[in-house]
Amino acid sequence: MPLEKSWIESANSPETDFPLNNLPLGVFTADGVPRCGVAIGDRILDATGLEEAGLLRLDDAPVLDIPFWNEVMELGPEAWAALRARLHELLREGAPEKDKVAPFLHPLEGAELHMPLAVAEFTDFYAGRHHATNVGTMFRGAENALPPNWLHIPIGYNGRASSVVVSGTDIRRPWGQLKGPNDNAPRFAPSARFDLELELGAIVGQNSDGPVTVTEADEMIFGYVLLNDWSARDIQAWEYQPLGPFQAKATATTISPWIVMRAALEPFRCATPPRDVALLPHLEEPGPMLYDIALEVDLTPEGGSPTTIARTNYREMYYSSAQQLAHHTTSGCPMNVGDLLGSGTISGPTKESRGSLLELSWGGKEPITLGDQTRSFLEDGDTITLRGAAQGAGYRIGFGPCTGKLIPALSDPYAR
Ligand code: MN
Repeated sequence: MPLEKSWIESANSPETDFPLNNLPLGVFTADGVPRCGVAIGDRILDATGLEEAGLLRLDDAPVLDIPFWNEVMELGPEAWAALRARLHELLREGAPEKDKVAPFLHPLEGAELHMPLAVAEFTDFYAGRHHATNVGTMFRGAENALPPNWLHIPIGYNGRASSVVVSGTDIRRPWGQLKGPNDNAPRFAPSARFDLELELGAIVGQNSDGPVTVTEADEMIFGYVLLNDWSARDIQAWEYQPLGPFQAKATATTISPWIVMRAALEPFRCATPPRDVALLPHLEEPGPMLYDIALEVDLTPEGGSPTTIARTNYREMYYSSAQQLAHHTTSGCPMNVGDLLGSGTISGPTKESRGSLLELSWGGKEPITLGDQTRSFLEDGDTITLRGAAQGAGYRIGFGPCTGKLIPALSDPYAR
């Protein structure tokens, strides 16, 4: 598919994350109030304002009067397609209603961005084979790196929706119980091995009641965000091996501010990698369900300049979000509008493509170099920025940056 041209000139640049082909959904502040918006080139289109003015009508009652996209998700896939079609009609080159739409455009640069959805529940998967193999090798040796179930089900755990935050939110280094000199002497201290995980988040846009197929699951997915699953490796190592899915992961999860709808990624579908063993039929993919999305991680020390510490691609995953969602429902677990599924860390096969510092520094044994500094894990003041984009011919479908700065731990959270 070629670039779709807009009357907003900046949207036609091959450099923008937000051409007319993308139309990602976010929430921003205009006139002091959070409103639903659509990123287009270097502008944000005030979708709430368009609905108020009668230029965008998705249902009998307003659905953009609360600053989240959940009510649009609830309307279902036909309304999602209608939203994209109407936005396209208003923003395409030669649009007859151009003059009516222009007053609803705001500058993207400097805009205050908020959570684009109310997250219902958060589930985090462990479905990248390179990541699981690296971590398993570190903790259990290369022979037993992957547990026997790993090639048959996407392993996951139920996380916390309460600590999902939007890009730009500072992350406070957590305290936790850490392993001491021996197993009988743990200590309570700030995490000294705080880490990032490069992931993609899938947003569930429809409810389910009972098991769904992989095809049905794919149709339930509203869109995707970049996701940083912040991880305290020392808390994780003590609380449970190998996943440590409780306090090690509870501090925060950062998502990028724009939901890239599934329809925008459609031209970039690709198949999951070859499988060593066949999946059981209920998890088999009916077609390509991953996406070719190039991903990068930048680390910027306090007052310093960014270094790209990892480059990889979402196509490296062993399980797609549709397979993860289908697996999630097999127990009869109902899924809800606004559920967020973390893909699992997206590492590639090479050292430069590892999506966490745990892997990049190999558990701290091989610190990485950043200019005149080194890192095994994050230092106070470090900023992590995830970036991702699918590359089309002359345009790209980008996510906008997913950023978070690590700020120092409290002096003692229990001091009175
Ligand atoms: Mn993770």
